[in-house]
Amino acid sequence: MAKIENVIVYKFGGASVKDASAVRHISKILKSSPRPLIVVISAMGKITNALEEVVNAYFDHHQLPVNEAFQRVRNFHQSMVDDLMKTNTSFQKQLNELLDALWKRLEQEPSLNYDFEYDQIVSFGEVISTAIVSGYLNQEGILNKWVDIRPVLKTNDVYRDAGIDWPLSTRFIKATFSFVDTNLYITQGFIGSTQNNLTTTLGREGSDYSAAILGHVMDASHVTIWKDVAGVLNADPRWYPNAVKLDEISYWEAIELTYFGAQVIHPKTLKPLQNKLIPLHVKSFINSNASGTIIKHIDNEKILMPVFILKQNQIFVTISPRDFSFIMEDNLSDIFATFSQFRVKMNLMQNSALNFSACIDTNRNVDSLYIALKKRYTVRYNEDVELITIRHYNEDAIGQMTDNKEVIDSQITRKTARFVMISSPWRLGSDRGGI
Ligand code: ADP
Ligand code: ASP
Ligand code: MG
Repeated sequence: MAKIENVIVYKFGGASVKDASAVRHISKILKSSPRPLIVVISAMGKITNALEEVVNAYFDHHQLPVNEAFQRVRNFHQSMVDDLMKTNTSFQKQLNELLDALWKRLEQEPSLNYDFEYDQIVSFGEVISTAIVSGYLNQEGILNKWVDIRPVLKTNDVYRDAGIDWPLSTRFIKATFSFVDTNLYITQGFIGSTQNNLTTTLGREGSDYSAAILGHVMDASHVTIWKDVAGVLNADPRWYPNAVKLDEISYWEAIELTYFGAQVIHPKTLKPLQNKLIPLHVKSFINSNASGTIIKHIDNEKILMPVFILKQNQIFVTISPRDFSFIMEDNLSDIFATFSQFRVKMNLMQNSALNFSACIDTNRNVDSLYIALKKRYTVRYNEDVELITIRHYNEDAIGQMTDNKEVIDSQITRKTARFVMISSPWRLGSDRGGI
């Protein structure tokens, strides 16, 4: 198959399709965007959270809440279509079909596999949002082709955190995005399917990753992810009022920032792009002509300012062998295996002779993790702590982050300082408050 030159991949997240005026705004951006173009779109607004409520009600057999939770999802999309649709367009029909399919699924008994049920239900968010946006764009004369990415993006069957089957996906992506009969495709982020065509998801916020996969396979000239911020800033502006934009950063630095939890880019996004040296642009969909941030290969990068990454709602858990054996040789692999079994990710790790400590996200498997660990270890934990990471720290930056805070653990390396602290409101001289 001949390589198609100059393909561009755009990704719009939930915030950029959160209401009808946002969709209209995207159509303006797309009208004047270069082609050939593949556009990846997430579920609208907070619909993934709303669908998670549907899953929980369904899985726990709460008939009434299932109906209520479903109606919330239905009403949101219906009002979107009511607002966007002129007469005689077909996306109302498509919406009805999709909502019917979702409701039919909810009328059946769930299997015993929560993660599987989750993916089958939550994926409707992206399918519906792309159907609406594609229909709207066609109505407005921005002709495009809607692609269901599920038969194209093949994955393993690790539901809720599916891994990509690269050889199969490469084949199907190249065959599907041929640009023979269109110069604009609209497709979903976040979702894929197994070899048996069962829907999977790539993990929360995974649409950035989907865009990177498409960019990699199509040898895109660049990938742009459109956000509600000016680009990658030196901190999340929701809690750090004086955040400033980084004009360009290296893949290396960006991977470090996302690894430490900078929420602006999904951590898996950068590898497929770095591997083919495809630049990633992070731009504001509000101010679409502004320059944003470019992530690319840079030799001898100099980042002059500290970058702050805050992770809230953390648990700091400390594990000690009951028999006073050393944590290192005897127990570490067992502890890692147990965390991995319950799919609890560690955001920071630390050990001494007899203790292993980790900072973890609060999630629904944590209680099961504790039960499993307590068979062999003493387990202690602090709930509701926060983890702050300062890349390129200096004394001032450390003071700014830790003054008046109760630090319970710290880790300082050449480029990075990390502190686990008891949560308390952030007062950084702004009226915006904490998040
Ligand atoms: P999407 O619409 O693609 O889902 P996200 O909400 O996941 O976008 O990411 C954008 C948000 O990331 C911003 O609104 C901002 O609050 C947050 N954010 C966290 N860290 C940073 C950072 N270093 N730079 C810019 N934004 C950040
Ligand atoms: N809709 C999914 C989520 O909210 C995927 C994404 O937005 O990237 O997690
Ligand atoms: Mg998001």
